[in-house]
Amino acid sequence: MIPAAPLQMQPPRWQQLWREAVRDPCELLSLLGLEALATRISGTAANGSFPLRVPRGFVARMRHGDPNDPLLRQVLPLDDEDRIVPGFDLDAVGDAAARTGHGVIQKYRGRALLIATGSCAVHCRYCFRRHFPYSEETAAAGGWGETVALIAADASIDEVILSGGDPLSLATSKLAELTAALAAIPHLQRLRIHTRLPVVLPERVDDGLIAWLRTLPWPVTVVIHANHANEFDDDVDAALARLRAAGTTLLNQAVLLRGVNDSVDALVALSERGFAAGALPYYLHQLDRVVGAAHFEVSDDDARVLHTALAARLSGYLVPRLVREVAGDPGKRPLL
Ligand SMILES: *Cc1c(COP(=O)(O)O)cnc(C)c1O
Ligand code: SF4
Repeated sequence: MIPAAPLQMQPPRWQQLWREAVRDPCELLSLLGLEALATRISGTAANGSFPLRVPRGFVARMRHGDPNDPLLRQVLPLDDEDRIVPGFDLDAVGDAAARTGHGVIQKYRGRALLIATGSCAVHCRYCFRRHFPYSEETAAAGGWGETVALIAADASIDEVILSGGDPLSLATSKLAELTAALAAIPHLQRLRIHTRLPVVLPERVDDGLIAWLRTLPWPVTVVIHANHANEFDDDVDAALARLRAAGTTLLNQAVLLRGVNDSVDALVALSERGFAAGALPYYLHQLDRVVGAAHFEVSDDDARVLHTALAARLSGYLVPRLVREVAGDPGKRPLL
């Protein structure tokens, strides 16, 4: 008997949307009616290892004709990035020194952070990992084996943090491979996922992802990384509602960014909008001082003033902790 041809498996829709992301700065500017900005595009960023990448759904949330749009500023590689500024380094937070194995970073007690993958749906210009040698360093490489062995051998690890890159850029089947192996480790108590995908590409939160989350034996926290209230829309709300319905706890972590969210009004709106979508504010990070990101920096003094004003405006639980990552510290350092 001749077997029937296998049904052609359709790739999930989010992967198609991922592939259709805008990658040409000139196309992005013309979508937004900002062709005049073309002379300010960074030559090195446009051609280098960290080029423009932004999903079209995220572009649709930008204001047409506004060169200062807070979403646009997060993704557009401008020539500001090419300035050499003393104090801004390639490995700003000491990741290279904290590596304990393939794609595993252990800096803090009890927590193992996995560089699950190097890929992201969006390239954020302020990203502190933009210079990290991802391709050789991901935990998914080689079928997770080395990573799982390392966690299994260290009973002090009770929380695994999936980070990256963006861990949800991996296929759900790949994530399921990892969690199936981790489920056999008795000392693991919690799983955390740091991801920008539910916000920048909400289609990622599809039936397959939700089904996988429901199989997990640990409480799961999803930390979304939204920096501005305008990043939320109906599709993001729906994606976050599905994550909550699957039993996950949602937190939001933001980076304080000059020209994006460095005003009390912007930060109030971010906390309120995130909470309305189901995510409690967690951290407000001072920028990591990485090459190419100096133009986003807010001084510590200004950050403190903003944070004090924020605390005077909001319910206590809507005020994120203002922190900076300092290499060698036992945890994120509060800015007091
Ligand atoms: C930030 C970070 C964590 C998580 O720290 P929390 O304060 O628990 O959010 C864990 N490991 C590494 C390497 C980190 O950089
Ligand atoms: S999604 Fe996260 S890891 Fe990826 S570029 Fe943006 S900030 Fe960096």
